[in-house]
Amino acid sequence: MQKEKIRLESGEIDLPKPLEQLSKNEIERKMYIAKVMTKTLSYLTQSFIENGFEWLLPVVFSKSTDPLWPDPGASIEKRIETEVYGETVRTTLSMIVHKIVASSLVMPKLFILSPNVRIEKRDRRFTGWHLYEFTQLDFEIRGANSSNVMSFVDSIIKGLIFYLKKNAKEELEYLNVYNSLSVPELPLKVYDRIWLEEKYGRDWEPFFKDDINEPAWVTNIPREFYDYEDFSTGRWDNYDLIVPKYGEILSGARREWEYDKLVRKMERDGVRKENYLLLLKLAREGKIKPSAGAGIGVERLVCWITGSKHVGEVQLFPKIPGTIYDL
Ligand code: ASP
Ligand code: MG
Repeated sequence: MQKEKIRLESGEIDLPKPLEQLSKNEIERKMYIAKVMTKTLSYLTQSFIENGFEWLLPVVFSKSTDPLWPDPGASIEKRIETEVYGETVRTTLSMIVHKIVASSLVMPKLFILSPNVRIEKRDRRFTGWHLYEFTQLDFEIRGANSSNVMSFVDSIIKGLIFYLKKNAKEELEYLNVYNSLSVPELPLKVYDRIWLEEKYGRDWEPFFKDDINEPAWVTNIPREFYDYEDFSTGRWDNYDLIVPKYGEILSGARREWEYDKLVRKMERDGVRKENYLLLLKLAREGKIKPSAGAGIGVERLVCWITGSKHVGEVQLFPKIPGTIYDL
């Protein structure tokens, strides 16, 4: 695991190259990663469908998108807003607002493969873990609580690794990860963020990820208005899934649905209410239903599975912070 340490701490790694600069061996490696990606998406989408989820198509432009604020992990250099038909729209940072509305009004269980555009600060190119465009496998379940979502994720992660070890043996062997990739024991362990801060300090993630040998949950993370916060205890009913040596591959929460709390949190956090008019209107009318969900960073998941050094390696057209290629 020495390599990953270098990857994440020194910044001395080769950035993923554009396609036209790849050697024959590098193209072969891309192809094997692509096969793992295909099998991963096939397994996960099939699992969602078998569990009664509807498959929603993504959106690109909307008036409302994820504020990504306040979020301890966010580092956005620029927010894309543009004018279309005389209205201001934003490119999708995440489909969180759409998920809450869609699960409340139409589909009790839904998932989306959603492109997220997050113009990360350019110094994040060397973390090996950030992209300015990535795909989120985002899902939401009306009436669910955190433990429903966490045990569902436990089972699909375990099922996925089991499936890949059986059905992508050749690919994993080529990538030299077949033996090191182990089917995790369930339930995955759960840690409270407060405990991690006491142990490792405020910047706990880099230390924590190096100390675990199996994916693990972290709960109670203060962040955006849409995650449920218990005002009486100060606890946040949310969760991140951290994978060993890499970091966070999924974040999610039980959601706020009550108008008064949504407004109070937006005002407290300096989030502009005028960017969430429909959500607030529906909440005021009692049409937003309690739900819980999460989103999996697809490239991060496959980066971890394939033992890649930079998450951009699993993209055919790498979107590395600060680096624009032709395609
Ligand atoms: N997908 C996340 C969620 O479901 C939102 C995010 O992208 O941070 O909470
Ligand atoms: Mg979030």
